[in-house]
Amino acid sequence: ANAQRIRVVVRKRPLLAHERSNADYDTVTCAPGGRRIVVHEPKTRVDLQKAMESHAFDVDDVFSEEASTQELYERTVGALVAAMFDGCSATCFTYGQTGSGKTYTMLGKGAAGAVADAIAPSRALDGPDDAGLYHLAVRDCFEQLELLRREGVALFLAVSFFEVYCGGVHDLLRNRSTCRVLEDAQGEVQVRDLAEVVPDSLTHLLELTSAANAIRCVGTTSANEHSSRSHAVLQLTLRLAESGDSYGRFSLVDLAGSERAADCADAKRTTRNEGAEINKSLLCLKECIRALGAGQAYTPFRGSKLTQVLRDAFTGESARSVMIANVSPGSSSVEHTLNTLRYAMRLSAHSAADGGASSASS
Ligand code: ADP
Repeated sequence: ANAQRIRVVVRKRPLLAHERSNADYDTVTCAPGGRRIVVHEPKTRVDLQKAMESHAFDVDDVFSEEASTQELYERTVGALVAAMFDGCSATCFTYGQTGSGKTYTMLGKGAAGAVADAIAPSRALDGPDDAGLYHLAVRDCFEQLELLRREGVALFLAVSFFEVYCGGVHDLLRNRSTCRVLEDAQGEVQVRDLAEVVPDSLTHLLELTSAANAIRCVGTTSANEHSSRSHAVLQLTLRLAESGDSYGRFSLVDLAGSERAADCADAKRTTRNEGAEINKSLLCLKECIRALGAGQAYTPFRGSKLTQVLRDAFTGESARSVMIANVSPGSSSVEHTLNTLRYAMRLSAHSAADGGASSASS
């Protein structure tokens, strides 16, 4: 049963038009059967011949560039919404370098590649092709709530949205105001001064999240993309109508661009601290997820602010997690892609990580 407490899946995005015109080519193959992903790394050998080194990674599920977010939802994330309705604490992460498709996956097509511009809500409602996981999960929640209401079960959905940046927690529904994080004598972690909204419709929620996402802390990378320097956490909480007590929770965590943790050598001082902080939180997250998967009693969640505020995600019998590793297929991203997949492999206790060379050809 422990194996299913954490699922690791990979999503490959298509090669984009501007990458093609830059002579980038596809280096990632999703093997048929759906659980293996292979990265073909271009290499120059000692004899100066060009060669390819292949690296195979086995995960719980693989989504090729043809797969829609709807499909990803049905095969992985939908189970987390069901778990929340069973009273569990469920968490879904998107991990990967800037430009690998995290925003596309979480917020949908309308928001991807343009996080700094608030999208018109109608845009996010165009249809299933446009919908991100926020949309699909909340739509599912509203449907389930309606079914339960007809059976006389009174629950409601409350929503918070915050970012973790440089060790601080900021409320994205309240103009990035700072929140305090407290741990009580029972070890319960509370984020104080955090707004909680009860959305009256899916449209209402999508308006809130797209506006809130636009004020997220972003920077500009060399590629002129918006790189997330913070982790964004959309927290859906089911509450009992009578008491307001929490019944189940689902957190959707859009992690900071993973390249932020690594290449900060020539960056300015603030950016370097930022990189160190992101590095710390991603390493600590890895340890916490491993501990959850291995069924360990002790989880080092106090090691970073991100893991501290997500404590419920790693502790207790009812915790369930899905990690979506997003990868770019382009040859110019191959190093980042390998780093992302190696990180993903180390999350699952059952990792029979290959990650090494399995074949080479010229
Ligand atoms: P990130 O949030 O990881 O920085 P984005 O979600 O902004 O990356 O994606 C980068 C670009 O790739 C965007 O233009 C986006 O529309 C496109 N993209 C990402 N994933 C897909 C996909 N599965 N299908 C089509 N286009 C995608």
